[in-house]
Amino acid sequence: MENFDTIILGGGPAGLSAAIYSARGNNSTAVIDINMFGGQPSNYLELENYPGFELIGGYDLMEKFENHADKFGVKKFPMQEIVSVDLKNKKFVTKENEFVAKTIIIATGASPMKLGIKGEKEFIGRGVSYCAVCDGAFYRNKTVAVVGGGNSAVEEACYLTKFADKVYVIHRRDTLRADKIVQDRAFNNEKIEFIFDSIPKEILGDDLVNTIVLENVKTKEITNLYTNGVFPYIGIKPNTNLFDGQLEQDERGFIVTDETMKTSVDGVYAVGDIRTTPLRQVITAASDGAVAAVYATKYIESLKETKV
Ligand code: NAP
Repeated sequence: MENFDTIILGGGPAGLSAAIYSARGNNSTAVIDINMFGGQPSNYLELENYPGFELIGGYDLMEKFENHADKFGVKKFPMQEIVSVDLKNKKFVTKENEFVAKTIIIATGASPMKLGIKGEKEFIGRGVSYCAVCDGAFYRNKTVAVVGGGNSAVEEACYLTKFADKVYVIHRRDTLRADKIVQDRAFNNEKIEFIFDSIPKEILGDDLVNTIVLENVKTKEITNLYTNGVFPYIGIKPNTNLFDGQLEQDERGFIVTDETMKTSVDGVYAVGDIRTTPLRQVITAASDGAVAAVYATKYIESLKETKV
């Protein structure tokens, strides 16, 4: 049985920041992740809004977070799938180990939402992708369609113009949700064409995708749009499967915390994209991690006082 003061589930920016603050606060600290460390930002080509770095690769920034955690002696358990969690007793089991801790910080993040239309699942890896940075280069001189109107959709559409000759952005309304600066960049990019008031109904192809079927939500007109790739960027859902029913969540499943990142379970904190928060950025994730680690440390101290 592995025993730590603080165990952090998830090694993205929120989890690694929590690890740095926890270990520096003299707590034995472990981070566990089902993948390698770095979380979602490892797949971002570049970030231009993380203070101190005018422009930095997502992977490079997360490598710096991980190296920083190493400096304070954080014990890392990458590629470990957690199979069960008992939050109340701070115990959980991975395929390889059993763990117990005094506090748990949940930082398992969020995953892309699926369109849920015919052809989406069938063409994953053959034209449907949720990661422009991973797969964009396959679409050199081709046509792609990005679905969504938020920051992710519009930023990734701009990124895809580095490769594709034509990028459609398909959005269900006639105004975008993305930040104005992001919108302006896309409106000024001549490779991008917006298709508003439209939702995808089906993805078609042979071996590879060649068509996305669209419905205009106002006129109900159906059109077949030629495309080689479909990139859905329609938002995220929290990775809470292991915790559902053990703590308070909002109507979309995000974990509810107070301003110290405490959840409804004593000694359990939640940070980053998985919690109910007004802003999901690397900097807010890192900030959450710092706050949680400080209050987790206070919780550990309070356990010692209770024992005396
Ligand atoms: P988001 O902001 O929730 O946007 C999702 C988009 O998909 C919305 O435009 C939404 O339309 C559309 N949509 C939702 N469900 C749909 C469906 N079933 N069919 C078609 N369209 C659908 O999600 P996101 O862009 O992934 O961003 C997630 C969070 O990360 C946000 O807080 C975002 O600001 C942040 N983020 C920030 C940056 C940055 O600052 N550089 C970059 C990436 C992400 P409606 O607009 O009609 O709801």
